[in-house]
Amino acid sequence: MSGTFVGMPAFPKAAREAVANPTLRGNLRHATHTIRAKRAAAVAEVSDWAELREAGRQIKDHTLRRLDQYLVQLEAAVTAAGGTVHWAADADEANRIVTRLVKETGESEVVKVKSMATQEIGLNEALEAEGIRAYETDLAELIVQLGKDRPSHILVPAIHRNRGEIRDIFRAEMSEWGRPAPEGLTDTPAELAEAARLHLREKFLRAKVGISGANFMVAETGTLVVVESEGNGRMCLTLPETLISVVGIEKIVPTWRDLEVFLQTLPRSSTAERMNPYTSTWTGTRDGHAGEGDGPRTFHLVLLDNGRTDTLADEVGRQALRCIRCSACLNVCPVYERAGGHAYGSVYPGPIGAILSPQLRGTASEIDASLPYASSLCGACYEVCPVAIDIPEVLVHLRERVVEGGPVTRAGNRVVLKPAKGHAAERAAMRAARWAFSRPGALRAGQRLASRTRGLHPRTLPGPGRAWSAARDLPAVPAEPFRDWWQRTNGGTTEEGTAK
Ligand code: SF4
Repeated sequence: MSGTFVGMPAFPKAAREAVANPTLRGNLRHATHTIRAKRAAAVAEVSDWAELREAGRQIKDHTLRRLDQYLVQLEAAVTAAGGTVHWAADADEANRIVTRLVKETGESEVVKVKSMATQEIGLNEALEAEGIRAYETDLAELIVQLGKDRPSHILVPAIHRNRGEIRDIFRAEMSEWGRPAPEGLTDTPAELAEAARLHLREKFLRAKVGISGANFMVAETGTLVVVESEGNGRMCLTLPETLISVVGIEKIVPTWRDLEVFLQTLPRSSTAERMNPYTSTWTGTRDGHAGEGDGPRTFHLVLLDNGRTDTLADEVGRQALRCIRCSACLNVCPVYERAGGHAYGSVYPGPIGAILSPQLRGTASEIDASLPYASSLCGACYEVCPVAIDIPEVLVHLRERVVEGGPVTRAGNRVVLKPAKGHAAERAAMRAARWAFSRPGALRAGQRLASRTRGLHPRTLPGPGRAWSAARDLPAVPAEPFRDWWQRTNGGTTEEGTAK
């Protein structure tokens, strides 16, 4: 069982601990710099990248505006192809549905394709509580699971581990889960991959139930799509008799023509590949359409909301639902590079996590209220995003919501207005600023007073502001306010152009 993010401290505390770990920083720096350089080269090869990016943005926005319509179309197509569609309003409902479906097969083991949605809802833990063991088959997910760890990257969940650590985990833990690590296992990539392959193969051949997510769902035909690099997903999607896919409702695209855009932008943005080594598509069941087929005899699609409808209702924040989980924004983020993924307290780390988690979960918890501040707003994430999500814009928007309190707390399926905690001083400062800036006379008097008393001003702030000013110089107050300087040097004309 992997660790969970429940009870994580707020971002500043978790990040402080992470940056003090030199091994973690070394692992992250090496990995993110390598991936980001490769991505830049892969993107530079495409002459119409800007057009593809804009097309991706428009397709996603169009689909989100008509999400209800496309979801109904998808449900009809999946049903016509022999599948069954289930609707889950939240994590608990999705876990209940999947657990029931697995129990109905009589099995107590499932194999899993790497899936963010099932991590988001804590499916493995829910299954474990009902006596069902879920085996992760993606190499990085396997490392996380065997190490009783938490994922720290969307694409490379074990990015915080180096080869030596992985070898030690395999040696210590594989025997508890199945085939043990080979004798004398070293930390060479080939030996580690072979050990994982042998360990997983017996699981693939035994499994009767597979669980997956999906990168995309095509509404016109009811087809689901998984892209991956290792081939483990192809095994999970084709060998088991029963396949259960848990997919966020925003993963839909209207047509195969639309899919074409993302199959170009996703691999280059994520793994810096021109195309994904494995692109698996399936429509319903093996028996659901004419002709010889392969794949599952029973197929269930669980459509997951879990905060997405609330996110859709926010005009600025909804752009986060365009995300295709490429992880390019993580790899260029200076904050992620230093703090690592665990500090974000969610399966969605980095810049996308900082805007997605507070919207999906609300900002009632300390960790979620701190996430919109886990950014320097440098904009590197926006530059690389293949669907042009303006992450800095959403971060600033969410900061406003955190400070002012707002309709961002969820209770079950309801959105509840709840005042933000812990920002009283910031709200008071903003109110004082509004008062002063709306009274020019008072502002001018205050500026003059500040200039005349500039020699008395402290160099550091007292109280809670002390930490802020310990690492920064407070701006010096000028000897003469700007307005007075302007009037003196412009012959008595105010900056508005009228004589005083
Ligand atoms: S926000 Fe953009 S760059 Fe980040 S993971 Fe999503 S699609 Fe990729």
